[in-house]
Amino acid sequence: MNEWILRVSESKTNYWATYVVDLTLMLFFLAWDASRLGVSPLWMTLLFAAGAFAWTPTEYAFHRWFYHDGMELTRNGHEKHHQEPTSTIAMPFFVTPLLFLPPQQLVANYFGARGFSSFLAGWFFGFIAYSFVHHSLHHYKLPFAWYRHLQSQHRIHHAIPDKNFGVTMRVWDRVFGTEFKK
Ligand SMILES: [Zn+2]
Ligand SMILES: [Zn+2]
Repeated sequence: MNEWILRVSESKTNYWATYVVDLTLMLFFLAWDASRLGVSPLWMTLLFAAGAFAWTPTEYAFHRWFYHDGMELTRNGHEKHHQEPTSTIAMPFFVTPLLFLPPQQLVANYFGARGFSSFLAGWFFGFIAYSFVHHSLHHYKLPFAWYRHLQSQHRIHHAIPDKNFGVTMRVWDRVFGTEFKK
């Protein structure tokens, strides 16, 4: 089982499929609030923004306590990324729908909670943006100072794995005292 999951995680098709699956989930969540529950665009926008903000501490927590400290499977996958930063390793594409569709259906369909799906969509937006920024940091050189700064911070994390857990922003490293200082 573990072998099989590792093989899926390391395939290039799976890597790009995760983007398609996660974007589809995000759009599905938005469509749920807009057409099934008739939530207003303003309320949807506010909750989407709140969800995207909520992603940022999740990014820190996942990376620090799940990828570096968690169960063997996720730890091994992430360790591989540290060793080969440009290889295409990702969670299997079916993990996010399995984890997020049941609670979304329970809260937004069974209980009919309005706005919950927009919040979840924003959180997914953060997750997709993080995945893409992380991919870029290892693959692309861009001429922006802020980008180059993020890139060097993340390079430091690859060399010193208990510093700089934030990938898209540094604020949570400051809050939790894991920011690298010369
Ligand atoms: Zn990396
Ligand atoms: Zn790491």
